[in-house]
Amino acid sequence: MSTQIPRPTPPRIAVVCIGDELVEGRTIDTNSGAIGALAVASGWKVAEIVTIPDEPGLVESTVERLAERHDWIVTTGGLGPTEDDRTRAAIAAAVGRPLRADAGAEARLRARAAARGVEVTALSLRQSLVPRGARVYASEVGTADPFAADGDGFTVICFPGVPRELRALAPVVLRAELPAGDVRHRLEAVYLGERESLLSERIEALRLPTGVGVTYAPSSPTVTIGVVGPDLGDVERADAQLATALAAWRLPLGAKTAAEAVVTAFTARGWTLATAESCSGGLVAAGIVDIAGASAVLDRGWITYANSAKVDELGVAADAIAVHGAVSAVVAAQMAAGARRVAGVDAAVSVTGVAGPGGGTAVSPVGTVFLAVATERSCVVADARFVGLDRQQFRAASAALAHRLLLAAVGGDYDALRSYRGVRELHFVP
Ligand code: AMP
Ligand code: MG
Repeated sequence: MSTQIPRPTPPRIAVVCIGDELVEGRTIDTNSGAIGALAVASGWKVAEIVTIPDEPGLVESTVERLAERHDWIVTTGGLGPTEDDRTRAAIAAAVGRPLRADAGAEARLRARAAARGVEVTALSLRQSLVPRGARVYASEVGTADPFAADGDGFTVICFPGVPRELRALAPVVLRAELPAGDVRHRLEAVYLGERESLLSERIEALRLPTGVGVTYAPSSPTVTIGVVGPDLGDVERADAQLATALAAWRLPLGAKTAAEAVVTAFTARGWTLATAESCSGGLVAAGIVDIAGASAVLDRGWITYANSAKVDELGVAADAIAVHGAVSAVVAAQMAAGARRVAGVDAAVSVTGVAGPGGGTAVSPVGTVFLAVATERSCVVADARFVGLDRQQFRAASAALAHRLLLAAVGGDYDALRSYRGVRELHFVP
């Protein structure tokens, strides 16, 4: 280290992704995310990520600029043997040291060439050039060895751009170069049926243990919420507070989607399932099939789009459609009951609604959907309205609610569904 100024903990890293292809959109950067994931696991903090083209002056000035604020700068890309790989010289300039050949790196390049029975070229020997005094890490996975070079009060750590090489090398090199970080504990759960902003309002009203932070990752229609902190006990307490306060929307621990929770719960009960879908067009069944182990649970699914299909396949009364309309609580209930009877399963769920943009009426505007779940014990109909969604979002929202209903059916407890966004009423059909 060229200076002995104590560096902050946890270590803060700036990441520089170098490559014309990255800024021109030919390659999507995955390296910075890989470094970020490693940083989280190791208790370091990624403070900044910058993507720049293969321009020597720019690489040098970017590193110099970042070095004013950050102590560790990690670069990826531009270590190859070709003319457009210019990172080495730029880093040498940024740390104020001349380039020279690293003996170990050169020996490895020569040995590799000899093993292939070819002459080592001057071009490929460029890959042994590093700033004087740099620490070079032998790569087992490629020809470009990563290296770390100290500047005045900062360290630059350079990796090749090939994602496979970066993932193999970064854990070893960064753990050797960076001091231990503050490892943080994290507990995550997935929530469904309420908006991120409203969930966060409820969380803000809680008094979580000090030092515990909350992270949100919405991925419609679910929101993953994590609690993070240095003390495991505090994180567990915070998670328990969330579990209580947000119980109505929280999926069972470990489930990433409601469909996954359905497969787990049905498998545990030894229950089988059938689906009868109209506007969701198979998404309810598809969500179940997405989960490994679905075959133990799913018996069959119908897409009964036309009225005649509802009548022919599921035994819905033509009169019921004429009197109440295809999008109605009565028809939803008859679809679920019919599917359960025909398939001979423990539970069946149905969906019938108006996805839009056309087809809405005064009674059933676009976004109206009726869902029913029939079991041996009961048939429960949810009358829901999802406003402001396009056709695809509406289908996804309807399917998620169908899964949530099935989950409720296993426990026989539908109370939480009264707090589900969009659900207007629950009817219990005897
Ligand atoms: P380089 O080390 O610059 O020669 O890059 C080698 C290969 O890795 C090229 O195919 C690049 O497109 C790819 N690559 C470089 N940087 C990244 C990055 N940040 N994310 C994903 N791929 C990259
Ligand atoms: Mg490149």
